[in-house]
Amino acid sequence: MIQLIKGFKDVLPGEIEVWQTIERAAKETFENFGFQELRLPIVEKSELFSRSIGDTTDIVEKEMYTFEDGKRGHVTLRPEATASVVRSYIQHKMYAKDPIRKFYTIGPMFRRERPQKGRYRQFYQIDAEVFGIDSPYLDAQLIFMLATLLEKLKARDVKAHINSLGCPCCRPNFQKALKELLDAKKDSLCENCLRRSEKNPLRVLDCKVPSCREAVAGAPSILDHLCDDCRDHFETVKSVLTENGVEFEVDTRLVRGLDYYTRTAFEVLTTSLGAQNAVAGGGRYDGLVKALGGPEMPAIGFAIGFDRLAEIVAMQQTIEADGPTLYIAPLGEKATEKAASWAMQLAARGVFCETDFAGRSLKSHMKRADKLKAAHVLMLGDDELDRGVAALRNMATKEQWDLPLDGLVETLVERFN
Ligand code: AMP
Repeated sequence: MIQLIKGFKDVLPGEIEVWQTIERAAKETFENFGFQELRLPIVEKSELFSRSIGDTTDIVEKEMYTFEDGKRGHVTLRPEATASVVRSYIQHKMYAKDPIRKFYTIGPMFRRERPQKGRYRQFYQIDAEVFGIDSPYLDAQLIFMLATLLEKLKARDVKAHINSLGCPCCRPNFQKALKELLDAKKDSLCENCLRRSEKNPLRVLDCKVPSCREAVAGAPSILDHLCDDCRDHFETVKSVLTENGVEFEVDTRLVRGLDYYTRTAFEVLTTSLGAQNAVAGGGRYDGLVKALGGPEMPAIGFAIGFDRLAEIVAMQQTIEADGPTLYIAPLGEKATEKAASWAMQLAARGVFCETDFAGRSLKSHMKRADKLKAAHVLMLGDDELDRGVAALRNMATKEQWDLPLDGLVETLVERFN
């Protein structure tokens, strides 16, 4: 038997109800905040990711699914959504009509990471991005929107962690101070961090290797190196969050893996998923639109790890699929013919309806109705046909009524819609 590939998975009934609940809640929440949906391709030119995410990141260095596609050159299965959203914003000159745009997109991402619990090679993200607003109120609003969604989904044990990464004006000062420390601690750094300390020293702060953590324990705080504008920006984000009841923690080690972040960076962490504790991550990337060939344009966004959020939601609540509103139990050929046509008409008119054509006994029909968790059963045997009625039973209360066959579909549509 051919099985699925390690690191990939099927989302089946039983689990999908949670996914659907999350997706509905995300769409509803984001649309109330003025976001519009985008559907974007899964395959993009590889260059889009190497230029936007950065050559020195783990994603671009070793995790992308890249292959040659004839004349198109190298193409990649997208490892994240921001780059594609920015590409689309620029390509369709969306800024020309109105630079301020808010988008969300939901779909699969691909990274060739070592598979483990909570870490897959195909995973899903719910992604939100805003262009054209540089105000810190927006940063706070975005984090607030994320917190609102998590609260709606009753996701407990989650907390926002925030930091500021400064801007091209003040970050080099911090990088210099950090680099001096890293140079002095070269012997304790892992191989990756030795490389990072040359190309992208901030990322060493993010390393999970114990000796690297120890080496940077006394590292300077980026917050002490912010320029006045960046400091004011960060202070406003924090005060708006506090005023609006969003709990957060300032984490000066939070740098995010991607090169294009400026100022606010944030993550939502959970205590209920073990090692893979990041549920969502995001931040401001004021330099990226220009870097990818668009106009100078501030932007900010985040991505929620759908798979991980689904795990948290499933831990804290049971969401089951509804059974049919009505199960039609026909006895005999003539009744089955009627049941088949009623079931189609009812479903077409918005009543969740099931029936069965196998010529079952009444007992067997009732068993099946129970298995499907039907709320009502409509019974139709020779006796009912002779009397021109069908018997409707409420499965919870066991009450039963005779309904005239004349205009039966209409009667049921009215009753159940
Ligand atoms: P990132 O773009 O790496 O910041 O990822 C944003 C979110 O996507 C993370 O906080 C995770 O919840 C989720 N995520 C990232 N990589 C994976 C993966 N390999 N498997 C499952 N979820 C992931």
